[in-house]
Amino acid sequence: MSIIVQKYGGSSLANPDLIRNVAKRIASTSDDSNQVVATVSAMGDSTDNLLDIASKITRLPNPRELDVLLSTGELQSCALVCMALQELGKNAVSLSGAQAGILTDSTFGNAKISNLSTDRIQMELNQGNIVVVAGFQGVTDGLDITTLGRGASDLTAVALAAGLNAERCEIYTDVEGIFTADPRLVPNAHKMDEIGFEEMLEMASYGAKMNPRSIELGMVFNVPILVSSSMNETSGTLIHEVNNMDMKVGEIRNRVRGIATERDVAKIIVYSVVDRPGIASSLFEPLAQADISVDVIVQNSSVEGKTDLTFTVKQSQLDRATSVVKKVADELGSGQIGIDENLGKVSVVGTGMQDSPGYAAKMFKTLATSGINIEMITTSEIRITCIVKVSDLGKAASALHDAFEMDFN
Ligand code: ASP
Ligand code: MG
Repeated sequence: MSIIVQKYGGSSLANPDLIRNVAKRIASTSDDSNQVVATVSAMGDSTDNLLDIASKITRLPNPRELDVLLSTGELQSCALVCMALQELGKNAVSLSGAQAGILTDSTFGNAKISNLSTDRIQMELNQGNIVVVAGFQGVTDGLDITTLGRGASDLTAVALAAGLNAERCEIYTDVEGIFTADPRLVPNAHKMDEIGFEEMLEMASYGAKMNPRSIELGMVFNVPILVSSSMNETSGTLIHEVNNMDMKVGEIRNRVRGIATERDVAKIIVYSVVDRPGIASSLFEPLAQADISVDVIVQNSSVEGKTDLTFTVKQSQLDRATSVVKKVADELGSGQIGIDENLGKVSVVGTGMQDSPGYAAKMFKTLATSGINIEMITTSEIRITCIVKVSDLGKAASALHDAFEMDFN
């Protein structure tokens, strides 16, 4: 018998008909040769709705209580899917994250999985049950309920697949797979049949919708992940270990695999900072302590012992970041802080770029020809990212999609 792990996202479970549809799909996967463990997100927008209610009670909800509250969304869908499976004559049992043996640290709201003990799931499977696990949650050593971060039912699915040594991990959602670019911005973007873990990690961290930690976990445990639609029978996109060396002659893949975009970018400039050892750490340490993640950082070469430090944060963290920076600016000898909150990121991603020159030049030229000003640039081995005005994001993504001939990818 092989074990198949399936995950269904919130939009695939938004109402009773959709829940019945999911149950049918789970039921048809479970047969004489396959045992199924499914994990589910909260129905539709229920996580957002729960956050909204909490915000009406208090401006700063206690993190432990917020996790108790948010975990209930997934418990609801989990129980309802089991009822729908039972209606179809299947034996099914729902398990909370804690019951499923998902142990975490106690970082409420963004807990890390520390251990997975699959005994209970195995026992239920051995008794002939389909097991439905509430996604996005776990439990600490001290039996406190935790959640794993927004969108982290994906992470539950990959962790279960790794822990159970599953044959496959299938993630079902409201889109047909991973696209070469956001189809809302680039109308001729198309679905990819496959993508490598590393490329997907860059795509997921830079805009394509999937929980980046789930990709990381898939990569570490080498769990192939199929992303596909819960609404039809399309073949989806397989995220797996792709070895460029394995490609046959004549099959050379386009070296740019995807264009990732992200809107939520704000820039802070700290002007005329005294250029001496330790300035970067005295700025970025307090930001890290305030749990603000800083992304692109640029330090200009200094003129007369002074330099400008520019970096980006999420727009939602801009206010907090600015107040931290204001506090340390004096210490840095800086008089002034500048802010731009209407920025976005556009990235080209592909493992093939690392050993071939010219991709950066082509990206910059394409943006220049389209009249788009580049505010900042950052790269990894397999990604080139430009920060541009958010209003230019669609134009930038389309132009790059054309320039790198991704129609034929
Ligand atoms: N329900 C949670 C969220 O909306 C987890 C998930 O959907 O994966 O973030
Ligand atoms: Mg969700």
